[in-house]
Amino acid sequence: MKISRRAQEIALSVTLALDARAKELAASGVKVVNMAVGEPDFAAPKVVQTAAIAKVASGDVRYTPIAGTPALRDAVAAHVSKTRGVPFSAPEVLICHSAKHALMNALLALADPGDEVLVPLPAWVSYIEIIRLANGVPVEVRPSESGGLNFAKLEASITPKTRGIIVNSPCNPSGYVADREETEALAAFAAKHDLWILSDEIYRRLVFEGERAISPAEINSETRARTIIVDGASKAFAMTGYRIGYLVAPKTVTDAAIRLQSQMTGAPNSISQFAFQAALEEEPTEVGAMVDEFRERRAYLLSALDEMGLSAANPRGAFYAFPNIARFRDARGSSGFCEDLLEQQALALVPGAAFGMDDHVRLSYALDGAQLGEAVRRLELFLSER
Ligand code: PMP
Ligand code: GLU
Repeated sequence: MKISRRAQEIALSVTLALDARAKELAASGVKVVNMAVGEPDFAAPKVVQTAAIAKVASGDVRYTPIAGTPALRDAVAAHVSKTRGVPFSAPEVLICHSAKHALMNALLALADPGDEVLVPLPAWVSYIEIIRLANGVPVEVRPSESGGLNFAKLEASITPKTRGIIVNSPCNPSGYVADREETEALAAFAAKHDLWILSDEIYRRLVFEGERAISPAEINSETRARTIIVDGASKAFAMTGYRIGYLVAPKTVTDAAIRLQSQMTGAPNSISQFAFQAALEEEPTEVGAMVDEFRERRAYLLSALDEMGLSAANPRGAFYAFPNIARFRDARGSSGFCEDLLEQQALALVPGAAFGMDDHVRLSYALDGAQLGEAVRRLELFLSER
């Protein structure tokens, strides 16, 4: 059978593929340490589990309205209004099957064939492919010295076809967190060139240096009107397997995405919607404990990397470090580095090439203390023999 050009041209998600490879190796008896996948290693909070079980037991597990239950849309609108400090209403909210799906919905709603979308690097693996699936054209833009938006390069990338920009703070993979000044500059840049801003805020809660992650929608009402916020349950509530996320956008965009969702998937899983509503309404205490635990692991990993001479600039948020490995790589780049590391030390990392920056590797510290210590030991050994 002939496979469509679209499917032939799409790459398998590197993060998910590497996670699968690490799990395969583990199943075959190899003692793999898996720092490849970005997934909290905690169970979902108790209220989430209880709500999911109660929903199943009620027998009332049916289609919900396409955009999600009114109660969950209300809860998301209230949550986003409170956390971003500007009012959002339920009709602007679309519950999706995951944040990844929310991003896909947003791109399908916004991009026409040939429209260019700015993708500041380093960029999470799926942005480029999601833009391409929507027939848009991704335009990668290198970061500033500090790892943030490089406005000179962004300006130089503008063409008559530029329509939007995807931003992600805290950033996967670098952990970079944009401050208010940078977000204001982004708002001015988007206004100048009349761009939409797709703001992936899935790591918003995971900031470790006392600051708050800022949404572009907070800057002023004009920026709010050109911003689509994407967020979800996976990282904030350790609910990756529930597969539930959302977008919040000006109503015309949300309505377009609802039409798309109605044909592509229909309403999201009603058990997960109910469980997510419980998480948002109850603010489970486990979340604070999870953030504290990540903070401790981060401190440990950063100092260990520092001792190994691997500098990882600014990972103030998310649960990743993205050190520069330029002096340890050969012509095969970050992929060769990660292949050798997996083969020689059974330690799985993600090559920076997957995020558009081949001199780096991504380490996820969503691992318990013992595993993290073992990861550091293996990495040290690997580098000492390199
Ligand atoms: N955006 C970023 C930056 C991510 O790291 C992830 C990882 N899962 C997602 C979106 C998608 O999250 P999910 O599909 O689990 O909701
Ligand atoms: N976002 C996570 C990561 O970057 C999960 C995997 C994925 O969805 O690509 O590892």
